[in-house]
Amino acid sequence: MSRVDELLTLAEATPGFMPRDEGLALYEHARAHGDRVTGGTWLEIGAWCGKSALYLGAAAEASASVLYSLDHHRGSEENQPGWEHFDATLVDPFDGRLNTLPSWQRTIARAALESTVIGLVGPSAVVARHFSQPLDLLFIDGGHGARVAWDDYELWTPKVVPGGRLLIHDVFPDPADGGRPPYEIYCAAVASGRFAPLAARGSLRVLERRAS
Ligand code: MG
Repeated sequence: MSRVDELLTLAEATPGFMPRDEGLALYEHARAHGDRVTGGTWLEIGAWCGKSALYLGAAAEASASVLYSLDHHRGSEENQPGWEHFDATLVDPFDGRLNTLPSWQRTIARAALESTVIGLVGPSAVVARHFSQPLDLLFIDGGHGARVAWDDYELWTPKVVPGGRLLIHDVFPDPADGGRPPYEIYCAAVASGRFAPLAARGSLRVLERRAS
């Protein structure tokens, strides 16, 4: 089995909220971009247990890029007790709070991606205000609440370099399929004129940062 196939197989077996076809699309678009622009700096918002970090990490490793994988690791609203996506095995007995960091760390270690996928632990908005590195690829897959989604859009998308890629997950044009904020920030990115839509697979959208 090739190294890429090994990583994609591991990604599939990792718990998370990324359907297989969307995960493969994530890999393919990242890989195509990495083949054009090697040694890039990539960042994903919303790491959970590392599933999408493996899809992106497989592409990052192949293109000598680095992927920052950012999360506060306390789960979003829908992951909390009583909500749809709550997983009691992820509760830390130390303080009774959700903690996905140990799972994320094990995922990255098992995949031997520790020199390619670098964890950033903290609130996205705080990290964004102190992160000045331009991004060749940005994947927004964080909280779906309006405040956090708009913060992710407003604080992170200006860092994407011309020609770079912006990917957004959980974009549902039909409100019956899911929450509004990821769809709204996708529409805002297109309406801004800064990003051109390139592709879609399921709820994944791929955009290119236009030259300014
Ligand atoms: Mg998602």
